[in-house]
Amino acid sequence: MSALGKHDPEVAAIIAAEHVRQTETLEIIASENYASAAVLEATGSILTNKYAEGYPGKRYYAGNVHADEIESLAIERAKELFKAEHANVQPTSGAEANMAAYLAFADPGDTLLGLELSQGGHLTHGSPVNFSGRLYNFVPYSVDRETEVVDMKTVATLAAETKPRIIVTGATAYPRQFDFESFAEIAHENGALLMVDMSHFAGLVAGGAHPSPVPYADVVTSTTHKTLRGPRGALALTRETNGAALDKAVFPGTQGGPHMHSIAAKAVAFGEAATPIFQAYAAKTVENAATLAEALQSGGLRLVSGGTDTHLILIDCSTLGISGMKAQNALQGAGIIANKNTIPYDERSPFVTSGLRIGTPALTSRGMGITEMRQLAAWIVHVLKDPDGEGVRESVRKEVAEFARTYPVPGITNA
Ligand SMILES: *Cc1c(COP(=O)(O)O)cnc(C)c1O
Repeated sequence: MSALGKHDPEVAAIIAAEHVRQTETLEIIASENYASAAVLEATGSILTNKYAEGYPGKRYYAGNVHADEIESLAIERAKELFKAEHANVQPTSGAEANMAAYLAFADPGDTLLGLELSQGGHLTHGSPVNFSGRLYNFVPYSVDRETEVVDMKTVATLAAETKPRIIVTGATAYPRQFDFESFAEIAHENGALLMVDMSHFAGLVAGGAHPSPVPYADVVTSTTHKTLRGPRGALALTRETNGAALDKAVFPGTQGGPHMHSIAAKAVAFGEAATPIFQAYAAKTVENAATLAEALQSGGLRLVSGGTDTHLILIDCSTLGISGMKAQNALQGAGIIANKNTIPYDERSPFVTSGLRIGTPALTSRGMGITEMRQLAAWIVHVLKDPDGEGVRESVRKEVAEFARTYPVPGITNA
């Protein structure tokens, strides 16, 4: 029996039940993935015991010889993976990385541009209930009503009018690629810095299945646990000249002691992401999303912006006469785990929503491909067209569980 099972059967039982849930359901939340056994092992390592405030070679505590080694390795791997001049691997979450980036390159009260939250922007891109909206004057840019793609003309006009310190791009529910080159041009013409929050698509960038923002952006932030498939955490990249400012903003600016166990796991994940196997994974994730999108459209569903260039798809449930909340709950009843999301110019509240956000990172990690995506689309269409049909949900749930059990889960049923 495991130490946890012996020591604390109550917690162990809950984790064991979660193993079953992660194995028997189809995980299509676009921001989730399965970390490898190696990443999990590093995350659960004794590095959690060590305080290492500061940076390699410049710590505030003794005993950091191995903390220095592991953080230096993670930094080198991150720089190599993303072809960046400077990397900070200490941010404990995406929100924290963004807080540090703003602290490094703007002052409270400054104007920043960010994608309208109801159109896919993140909470930390200026939500009034988040520190970003409380401390900075965020002005939102939007997507075109017709194409549902970011309208670069509005971005240019807003930038010229408001002269922001930073233009922030990247999103949580945007199925298309951002035009980093145009964003950089607009930012630099107006004396602003460009910040790209690549949290969602970092793994695709690492695997060469998505353009990299690094050559264009002044600062790049990212989570490490989404398409990148690492431990929960984040990183920030910048140019050499801005490195000291960024580091200072992470520590002592926004954080205390770094999470050395997570940093070790990030090093492992960066190593994994630099392999040809991961390149194939990134390409497959995008290919699976394109197939899934096409199959959903053939089934009569409307997708925001008409499709996807990434791992992410946003379904407009209003054409089915149901809300995103209803769609999420119906699919959950069928063992398919997704999340409701607003769509551009949504008429429903952010709690109810008209959209459903789905993605292929986790299922692709289980080795699923084109055939499985078509099967999945058929189930989704079937359930969403009869969201109140208990019989439908129940029969799909049984099929899903049986189907899902035959695909290995990284970190659970295989390495
Ligand atoms: C997920 C995400 C974040 C926040 O990451 P947390 O680790 O949950 O704080 C920030 N920005 C974007 C674009 C994201 O997708």
